[in-house]
Amino acid sequence: MTTPSPDDLLTRLRNFHSDYFPRHQQRFQDLVAQGQHPKTLFIGCSDSRLVPYLLTGAGPGELFIVRNVGAFIPPYDGSHGWHGTMAAIEFAVLSLEVERIVVCGHSHCGAIRAAYEGVPEEARALKIWLKLASEALLPVRTSAEALRRTEQRAVVLQLERLMGYPMVQRRVEAGKLTLHGWHYVIEDGEIHVFDAKQGDFIAASLASNPGTGPYREYVEHDGQILCD
Ligand SMILES: [Zn+2]
Repeated sequence: MTTPSPDDLLTRLRNFHSDYFPRHQQRFQDLVAQGQHPKTLFIGCSDSRLVPYLLTGAGPGELFIVRNVGAFIPPYDGSHGWHGTMAAIEFAVLSLEVERIVVCGHSHCGAIRAAYEGVPEEARALKIWLKLASEALLPVRTSAEALRRTEQRAVVLQLERLMGYPMVQRRVEAGKLTLHGWHYVIEDGEIHVFDAKQGDFIAASLASNPGTGPYREYVEHDGQILCD
């Protein structure tokens, strides 16, 4: 079988059905018969280079995924707006009862760069959306280092916002849910996990846990981002 070009979508669909699916058929059918019970809500940037299944080694049924530009989380306001990310968080926490939420940003994030540099005038929704990162921006000239730090600060900011969701806060405080902040460095193939106790991102190869920590202790630092 020749490898299809990335644009040959029909060939790829046929290959999935004829090649991948038969080898995993039972798994898919069990997931239909028993329903899905993912333990993780993965909130990631839409960037094509971030591949949640590859990074976590997860298979079908393991990750409930919501992705958007920047891996941002809107503040919880209980409104009836058409907000996909908010709805996904509510569904994952209240109905699926996930045990952990991962917020995953990454290096060379176009959303973070655009938050500094702006977007085309016509991109009105994007312009508003990027305001969700504004508190993470640094009052410095953009540089590779500043962008990297901002990407990490943005991840922590989103964790903080998650704690504003009543159903999240309740479960975190009851010890039923943990929050994890990750920063994926594409060129190194390494995830750096936010350690709330140290207030910094630690390379997963050196970390002692997947980024969980005494989150309340962190929050009591009055929202200070400590990874400077
Ligand atoms: Zn991104």
